[in-house]
Amino acid sequence: MRKIFIFFGAPGSGKGTQAEIISRKLKLPTVSTGDLLRHEETAGTPLGRKVAKLLDSGKLVSDELIHQLVKERLAKKDAQAGFILDGYPRDIDQLSDLLEMLSDADRLTTVEIGISDKAAFNRLSGRRVCDCGATYHIVLNPPKKAGICDLDGGKLYIRHDDKPEVIKDRLATYRANIGPMLALAKERGKVAPVDGEQPMEKVTEAIIKVI
Ligand code: AMP
Repeated sequence: MRKIFIFFGAPGSGKGTQAEIISRKLKLPTVSTGDLLRHEETAGTPLGRKVAKLLDSGKLVSDELIHQLVKERLAKKDAQAGFILDGYPRDIDQLSDLLEMLSDADRLTTVEIGISDKAAFNRLSGRRVCDCGATYHIVLNPPKKAGICDLDGGKLYIRHDDKPEVIKDRLATYRANIGPMLALAKERGKVAPVDGEQPMEKVTEAIIKVI
């Protein structure tokens, strides 16, 4: 039996952060399709070059490609006791694909981190990142010196997909897909809604309580 967790949440809901925290607590790896794709892009692999434009525009990468990426990742040794999915599945077809990859013995828990579009927009439009992986927010979590990473002194920048027009598109895509996905996830396991507008630690506490 594998313990499998899906983390749903609009862009900006903090789902990636929470998935990492829960991953450390449960000692299960996080599988983030966004990170896997960005890794390919940075490494300049043929796949990375193919998806670079899509990543920058916030448009979804094809289901076939994602399926292959996820299948290879889940076959790795560290995912055999279970894993936490972040950014996947993104639509009903990807969820159906995932369910086909599971066996009856696998235990599936879905966490849905709720946040309004307004709060999500504020969080994303203020986000600044460094190439070292550090993330800041100009108001909620500013670096000591504006525009400079506290950790390695790198220059902070705005992710292409955090530009206002792209944020609107990403939120709309999420809202269009989440209803049918939750309905299907409920048929296969527990679905636990959590209020994502609380402070980060409270969100973590709420997740631990429900899972
Ligand atoms: P994320 O970091 O999860 O916001 O993902 C960044 C970008 O990667 C998205 O805007 C998509 O272009 C692509 N992406 C990530 N996960 C998926 C997925 N499951 N299906 C399709 N595209 C994805």
